Amino acid sequence: MQIASKVWHNGEFIDWKDARVHVMTHALHYGSSVFEGIRAYDTKLGPAVFRLTEHMQRLLNSAKIYRMEIKNTRDELCQATVELVRDSGMKECYIRPIAFRGLDEAKPSFGVNPFPNPIECYIGAWDWGKYLGEEALETGVDVCVSSWTRITSNSLPTMAKAGANYMNSQLIKMEAILGGFSEGIALDDRGYVSEGSGENLFLVNNGRLITPPLGAAILPGITRDSIIKIAKEIGIEVEETTIQRAALYLCDELFFTGTAAEVTPIRSVDRITVGEGNRGDVTKKLQDEFFKVIRGERPAPNNAPWLTYVNESAEKKTAGNSGGN
Ligand code: PMP
Repeated sequence: MQIASKVWHNGEFIDWKDARVHVMTHALHYGSSVFEGIRAYDTKLGPAVFRLTEHMQRLLNSAKIYRMEIKNTRDELCQATVELVRDSGMKECYIRPIAFRGLDEAKPSFGVNPFPNPIECYIGAWDWGKYLGEEALETGVDVCVSSWTRITSNSLPTMAKAGANYMNSQLIKMEAILGGFSEGIALDDRGYVSEGSGENLFLVNNGRLITPPLGAAILPGITRDSIIKIAKEIGIEVEETTIQRAALYLCDELFFTGTAAEVTPIRSVDRITVGEGNRGDVTKKLQDEFFKVIRGERPAPNNAPWLTYVNESAEKKTAGNSGGN
């Protein structure tokens, strides 16, 4: 695996090997971190980061919910990411910004009260292949419905991408793996379909897309938003509504979306075959359009500036072209 040799920390670049924390770091004990997962893709004009601004805004939103003050502006975080990717020399990579409550070694504080602990912000990057396997994008994955309920948003807000939420995700993921599945789907506390351990979920019924609403304790996924916008643009109706577990078994097609998982078809749920048991036509169409957008081969819906090119020459070439899509 290729890893960027530098890590951005609170405004400056440091060596990968120096990006370390003390074992008494607040976040390690109490889960006090917020983070992002972003991808940069290889395009004709060099690497381009997908929806960088939206990801950094979500990071700031997550931090705001937890009263964590990140000293850098959204633009500074975006600029740091661009430099990190550019200097890494990688054509494609996964980018991981994280902000957390650290430890002030001069004035240590060990209690739950997070206020005395300083906010540390880092951005690292590495070359991460296909999250659910190379083949998964074509053949689809086998998943189960988890016995674990998705966290309720009035105990841990799912609008925040917080480290602590991923204890719930880990329970879902481990149960799935030990049961011989690639991934688990959680139901919310009312019993309605929520999302995968690290992905949003879409059903296709009679050519229409159906996805759980934000009220189903989901993370407001940026890939989810991209797919909704692409679908509407190509004339596919989208409905955000509550979904019963049984609807997972009866729909025509089913797929996950996420930065890591991209658009991954699901071929069975609880060993019940979904549709024809392979990637459906609507899933394929949306995948194709999505991959064209992320590689800069077609504009984003409404010409939105979804790609941030990291090479200055590419930026110049695309200037005045709605962000270069
Ligand atoms: N839900 C959860 C729980 C996730 O961890 C992720 C991955 N960030 C998603 C949904 C998908 O979000 P996005 O498309 O923004 O990556």
